[in-house]
Amino acid sequence: MSKYSIGIDLGGTNLRVAAIDGAGKMMRKISVGTHLSAGRDAVVGDMVTSIRALRQEFGADGLAGVGVGSPGFINMETGVVTGAPNLPGFDNFALRGAIERELGGAVILENDANAAALGEKWMGAGRDCDDLVLFTLGTGVGGGINSGGKILHGFMGMAGELGHMTVAPNGNPCGCGNQGCLEKHASATSVTAMARMLGLGAELTSEDVYRLAIGGNEKAQAVFGAMGQALGIALATMINALNLPLYLLSGGVLGAWDQFAPTMLEECRRRSFTFRNSKTRIEKATLGSEAGLYGAAHLPHVLAGN
Ligand code: ZN
Repeated sequence: MSKYSIGIDLGGTNLRVAAIDGAGKMMRKISVGTHLSAGRDAVVGDMVTSIRALRQEFGADGLAGVGVGSPGFINMETGVVTGAPNLPGFDNFALRGAIERELGGAVILENDANAAALGEKWMGAGRDCDDLVLFTLGTGVGGGINSGGKILHGFMGMAGELGHMTVAPNGNPCGCGNQGCLEKHASATSVTAMARMLGLGAELTSEDVYRLAIGGNEKAQAVFGAMGQALGIALATMINALNLPLYLLSGGVLGAWDQFAPTMLEECRRRSFTFRNSKTRIEKATLGSEAGLYGAAHLPHVLAGN
């Protein structure tokens, strides 16, 4: 029987657990809400129940391993999660150990954006490419770097926090303690915040701002110009530092690509000699919100070296 693995994508709203075979075929996906109000033990319990159900359905013998993607900074040594504001109760929580105790077996814990980058490399836009960077543009901005087909971790597992790169020295304050972080200028949240600051409306979604921009509203266009500039600075910095061949962007706000990409690419060209003089690609990711699930399921294969 061919091996399969189980991937878990833990989000602030949704908890998704999937069995995926070694070729990347989704065998079964379980989607449940993340019941944060019931407490973190209940959330861990839901994860373990889903893992057991899939293990029972597809057999313990063929299971290559279990990978878990979680928001926040993950200390790879201790398996402790910190700085995940969408997971109240999980701050400084030894998540990996808690799952392993309940399950009675080992799991691999990884930052969700790192997992998404690995998912895109395995089954998405980076399939032909072992070296890539992924920016996830959502409520915040996450990031993951793959080098040689593996996640670049740094010495504690905290590499790839691309949302906290400084793109404006005196920019908006960020929850991380810095100011002018990329996620304050290029997330879906920042699009609506900038629109609010420009007086476009208090209740707008990023889609509303996009519709205003394509309708010719100059303030809305300026919001996406600012977003493009911030992304261009961040991309040029990464390209200059790493010289990888592929940089991917994901998130719902990519629907506004035609509004922010021209400024982004112009800014990147201006700031990166390497970009101007190489075939470096900047593209949309293709797996959408499934990337983290695929990446989590791929973690056991990477650990096993295949
Ligand atoms: Zn920050």
